[in-house]
Amino acid sequence: MHWVDRGPEPEQLARIHARYTPRWVRFYGSGTGKKPSDTRWREFSGDLADAFHDLCAYCEELCRGEVDHFRPKSRYPELVYSWSNWLFACHDCNHAKLDKWPTAGYVDPCARSRTAHPERFFTYDTLTGEILPKGDLSPGRYRKARQTIDDLRLNEWHHLRKRLVWLRLISEIIPDDPAEMTAESEELRAHYCSRTIPFSSITRGWLAERGHRADSPRRTGSSSR
Ligand SMILES: [Zn+2]
Repeated sequence: MHWVDRGPEPEQLARIHARYTPRWVRFYGSGTGKKPSDTRWREFSGDLADAFHDLCAYCEELCRGEVDHFRPKSRYPELVYSWSNWLFACHDCNHAKLDKWPTAGYVDPCARSRTAHPERFFTYDTLTGEILPKGDLSPGRYRKARQTIDDLRLNEWHHLRKRLVWLRLISEIIPDDPAEMTAESEELRAHYCSRTIPFSSITRGWLAERGHRADSPRRTGSSSR
């Protein structure tokens, strides 16, 4: 998981937010009446896909993607049409999460504070493909990282398999030893470190383990936004 700047809210959203949010707030506030059936957030899945480069915010896989309400509608109905509460997520991650929300919340892929960025919480075992809480976290931050991994099932076999296949491909095009880098492999290194490419955080981890540069641009919002 890596940090994503989702960029500015689409212009049309303010009107929809104003019109449709109150019914969700009323329903979950009073606990009575009929659950609203509007799903106007789906109209913005293309905007989110652009902002997230078609990569799931949680597992970094290239996907068709869905609008994930990071803070679930049932607990934060006032955020049902808030751009700042939406993530682009694959079907597996979105449905693993559903309306779960632990007391401390989950690690936020779009956190504003650098100290809250996913890179501060997670590392990878590049032999097994597992995403893991970093070893130097405080107990509270460790629990948050662990719960994010477990509730979103980020270490299920299908994720591990894809990460390992990916790393195998990376290992075939980038030499283990930084001294053996050519201009071409350097170009590939920079390309595969980019946050617009699937699995870039585990790629960066693999590179860093071997003493390669593993930097990437900070901003990931679409340039067209
Ligand atoms: Zn996912």
